[in-house]
Amino acid sequence: MTPDTGFKLTYATMFNPPEELHTQFDLAAAELKGRLGREYGMIIDGKEHFSTEKFEDRSPADTSVLLGVFQKGTAEDAHLAMDAAARAFPVWSHTPWQERVRLVRKAAEIMDRRTYEMGVIVSLEVGKNRMEGLGDIAETADLLRYSCDRMEANNGFIAEMGRDPLVGFTSRNLSILRPYGVWLVISPFNFPAALTGGPAGAALVTGNTLVMKPATDTPWTARCIAECFREAGIPDGVYNYVTGPGSSLGQALIDDPRVAGITFTGSFDVGMKIGRDFSSGRWVRPAILELGGKNPAIISKNANLDDAAIGLMRSAFGLQGQKCSACSRIFIERPVYEQVLGKLVDLTSKLVIGDPLDRKVYTGPVVNKAGYRDYQAFCAELEKAGRILTGGKVLTEGALANGYFCAPTIAVDVPADHRLWQEEMFLPITMAAPFDILEEAMQRANDVQYGLTAGFYGSEEEVTWFFDKIEAGVTYANRPQGATTGAWPGFQPFGGWKGSGSSGKNAGGYYYLPLYMHEQIQTHMKRG
Ligand code: NAP
Ligand code: MG
Repeated sequence: MTPDTGFKLTYATMFNPPEELHTQFDLAAAELKGRLGREYGMIIDGKEHFSTEKFEDRSPADTSVLLGVFQKGTAEDAHLAMDAAARAFPVWSHTPWQERVRLVRKAAEIMDRRTYEMGVIVSLEVGKNRMEGLGDIAETADLLRYSCDRMEANNGFIAEMGRDPLVGFTSRNLSILRPYGVWLVISPFNFPAALTGGPAGAALVTGNTLVMKPATDTPWTARCIAECFREAGIPDGVYNYVTGPGSSLGQALIDDPRVAGITFTGSFDVGMKIGRDFSSGRWVRPAILELGGKNPAIISKNANLDDAAIGLMRSAFGLQGQKCSACSRIFIERPVYEQVLGKLVDLTSKLVIGDPLDRKVYTGPVVNKAGYRDYQAFCAELEKAGRILTGGKVLTEGALANGYFCAPTIAVDVPADHRLWQEEMFLPITMAAPFDILEEAMQRANDVQYGLTAGFYGSEEEVTWFFDKIEAGVTYANRPQGATTGAWPGFQPFGGWKGSGSSGKNAGGYYYLPLYMHEQIQTHMKRG
């Protein structure tokens, strides 16, 4: 529940929040605006840690606004964080699991209390609208609780096995899942809370110690998560928070042989490199890689076209298309092609673009200058290869002049063999094409290196066919709340197939926690 409202916020319920939620958000925003531009340390071994070099965290909605100053961590800092986490492991891993659960639950409660403040920070840092900002925090607290619940439901993953049928001996066989050691969490900018806090909670509750490195675009949100762990009383050194460039600090962390396992969420290329590094050390170490998507939606002529149009719009343009689950490919059965596109263009052109803190705004800026430039290059390329139905340009009028605002864009008539049908753009750009038979749409939907999410709109029999044939980890049918987006822990565990994910098990689901532990069988014999 969000504090003071009694309202259960999820990505499916966020479209009709109570008034009180807006009031609380506005209060938190006003408070935060009075304390921008401060310097924040890293947290290593429970202590504030400062580097010689710093970097600035600026608002993508208005780059003249300095949000905070953060530490540009070095290889040496990576080493210190690893030292701390390695030292803390023997005690934390032998702390009873019930106590770890208690502490992680406490962190979730603290996060609940800070929902509005942290939601505003996410909005400021990433450029998410307020509901998406709040959603990120509420989801993180739920991910922490879900990990705790699974630990309890599985009795700490301690299970009695069969007894060997021996004469003269009694045997007892126990299966115990035990933590690996120091766990590294490297997270992306787009869900800076959930994708830092979710894996961090799983690592901690299972008894690993933690080093977390957020994206350079979003250090502040992750800092708040570290503060929640600290306030909950998780011991010094058990969790460590470092900031700095992926290419130097991140690489130094990856290269440290003391890292026992990693959860990396981010782009395919970086993830694949990490996967290769982790399989070529002294032994193969676990690497949970949550990577990109090129998520399709298929709309049959039997679909409810209004549900389809709104679901498509929400998934293509929510968070400015910067969700790994964003709907970037739309296949529409020919008889309803023009009609669905008409509805989609209509909904898209009504989106309010601007300052993401503003209650009326749905579409904020893209996260940084690189994304802003990429957007312009992709639009030029799509315009040349096909036709842009709406959008296609950056917005620089009035209050938008200092931010990275990009108009939500729908491209059509792009040849099926064009590279942008294959590559993740991660921007508010989606592409649509007609099809004549459902099998043809399915073939195109599956013909990419990714397999993260997918959506379908059509009849009941067609839905069964869709679930059966689609190659993706998270799939939705007839969902107006989002064609391909909007997963929630405990409801839609999240993860991908093929190039979208390495573990084959989804975060926030039944099979997630065991990824953070190795099994030990304890056979204990007694004579008699
Ligand atoms: P990214 O550029 O790959 O960065 C992700 C993280 O890796 C950042 O913290 C980054 O640090 C760090 N990093 C970069 N190079 C590194 C290296 N050589 N060694 C260690 N760390 C390194 O991704 P992004 O642009 O932040 O996020 C967008 C991507 O994430 C998209 O591809 C999206 O699909 C994917 N994603 C996947 C999921 C999922 O659940 N499957 C969820 C969300 C996002 P810096 O910021 O300092 O470069
Ligand atoms: Mg920034």
